Amino acid sequence: MRRILLISAFIAIPGLFAQDQPLTTLPYTPALETKFIDRSADPCVDFYKFACGNWNKLNPIPPDQARWDVYAKLNYENQLYLWGILQQSSSTNATRTPQQQKIGDYFAACMDEAAVERAGAKPLQPRLDEIGALKNTAGLPALLARVHLEGSDALFGFGSSQDFADSSRVIAFASASGLGLPDRDYYFNTDAKSVEIRAKYLNHVATMLRLLGDSPQAAEAGAKIVMEIETALAKASLTRVDKRDPYKLFHKYTRAQLAALTPSFDWAAYWTALRLTPPLAINVTEPNFFKEVEGQLKARSIQDWKTYLRWHLVNADANYLSSPFVQANFDFYSKTLRGVTEMRPRWKRCVSLVDRDLGEALGQVFASRTFTGATKDRALTMTSHIEKAMEEELAQLTWMSPATKKQALVKLHGIANKVGYPDKWRDYSAVEIIRGDFLTDVHRAVTFESRRELAKIGKPVDHSEWQMTPPTVNAYYDAQMNDINFPAGVLQPPLYDPKSDDAPNYGNTGATIGHELTHGFDDEGRQFDAKGNLRDWWTKQDASRFVQRAACVSDQYSQYTVVDDIKINGKLTLGEDVADLGGTLLAYIAWKAATKGLDLKPIDGFTPEQRFFIGMAQWACGDERPENKRLNAITNPHSPNEFRINGVVANMPEFGQAFSCKTGQPMMRQNACRVW
Ligand SMILES: [Zn+2]
Repeated sequence: MRRILLISAFIAIPGLFAQDQPLTTLPYTPALETKFIDRSADPCVDFYKFACGNWNKLNPIPPDQARWDVYAKLNYENQLYLWGILQQSSSTNATRTPQQQKIGDYFAACMDEAAVERAGAKPLQPRLDEIGALKNTAGLPALLARVHLEGSDALFGFGSSQDFADSSRVIAFASASGLGLPDRDYYFNTDAKSVEIRAKYLNHVATMLRLLGDSPQAAEAGAKIVMEIETALAKASLTRVDKRDPYKLFHKYTRAQLAALTPSFDWAAYWTALRLTPPLAINVTEPNFFKEVEGQLKARSIQDWKTYLRWHLVNADANYLSSPFVQANFDFYSKTLRGVTEMRPRWKRCVSLVDRDLGEALGQVFASRTFTGATKDRALTMTSHIEKAMEEELAQLTWMSPATKKQALVKLHGIANKVGYPDKWRDYSAVEIIRGDFLTDVHRAVTFESRRELAKIGKPVDHSEWQMTPPTVNAYYDAQMNDINFPAGVLQPPLYDPKSDDAPNYGNTGATIGHELTHGFDDEGRQFDAKGNLRDWWTKQDASRFVQRAACVSDQYSQYTVVDDIKINGKLTLGEDVADLGGTLLAYIAWKAATKGLDLKPIDGFTPEQRFFIGMAQWACGDERPENKRLNAITNPHSPNEFRINGVVANMPEFGQAFSCKTGQPMMRQNACRVW
């Protein structure tokens, strides 16, 4: 125990990160650690400070991170472990399985900094030549298809997803994209910081164009063109809050309708270049956006498009090029936008890329070494307890009619629980990896993934598929699959601790399971039925009662300050806030049921109920840089960690009781919100 704390203190000291070493075993931190508690804080006044105050003191944000919290730290430990796997897999002396060979060679190509430096911008040259050879906009579709396959998001996005109306079918999706700033709002916000960021963005685009060989004047003029095109596209893009309404993103077009929407764009040529059979149905998520694409195609010269495409090409590939590109990319996207002071060491960037591009090959090794059947069984048991709690909770709800309750139960029973890793692993044998040619390796791996996505169009849905890799420290609910997914990476201490008793485990992982389950019934998820179809199964009155109860939560969170004068956008974070509240409540009920009749004793001076809530809060210990808070206020549907804890417990009388709080104290809200 003491040694582990020493390790966590050691890795927290900035400057000592250079001594990172690959791990062969993962460190252990208990689900509830009393040393992280700040006893000078009053739990009834600021529970987050009470439960996490000392964690935050012991764990300052490392210079290469924008945020540092329990999830980020566990992710870092996983990365050290994956690094060990990759070092071993990259040794050509060892006997390697085909997967180990693939991930090892990709990692070695990424780590070969000398080769990357020697290559400079040369690997981009074939695509730059193609852009240079464009004579008119008729050549755009084929060129866009090629760069889209390799990961560029220029002008728009094209891929596949489940039909909102029939979740058993996969159809083509054409979506809004094509911006270099993290959100459409960045192009229009008028506050001083936003104006400053736009000026720095212009500089950054010009820097990148200069690195591609433009004169300073040409680069500056080019950056202005990029800004004009992106601003027009941003203006026609939906806000993030609008995008929470699935009806606003569902416009199923025939090919003829799509052609009529964008007569200046030859979709047949685009699909031919993708090697795709022209799809029968295309969900044009934002028709107004494509109207603007049409307007821009008509209005702009081919010279303007060449500039725009060169920027988006170099922006997409900057991280795989030589250091001037990597540095400029870091300076804007990490330093300016997120406040990060140091670049992540190369090994971290390379581990992340293997996870992104060959994630199930790497994850298969990770899961086989770290994830046990016993953990899977316990997580599934906990899930079934929490589903049972939701069932009972639904039955008791006073605001919902029997008709809607019946449908809600069907949906609840239809949720599939996926734990650990996929039943069948992705086969990467078609991806060719060659050491010493990193950018091309990335392009081949990304193209493989793009083609895999496109190949699903017109085929039945594969329910075994995962959207997160096994080492990922995160979880998700998918409304169209109607499944909840918990990768092996998130079922580790301190989040899920096999050595601990139930109270903190239910508070932490139990609340996460409840959170994902509740997503099926939040402002967005409730609009899909048990089969994952967009269909209204609510009576009018129940729907309006839900909206009213949800408004209580969004009003509550909208009052919290993120940083300076920026408040939480409670409409953006509504789904997550409702899930946090519902999830914690469900976990509490499930824990009470699971331990019914047991004589639970206080441990370390805390009652079992107090330990449930401290365990619940200690997933969220951490902090982030002010710049990152600003960015998240615009883009992140999750509230800052502090409010994900205090905002929840302040709505739970069970918490007030556990800590003997008095009416009127901050963690005892009057008119507490409750949805589920
Ligand atoms: Zn969530």
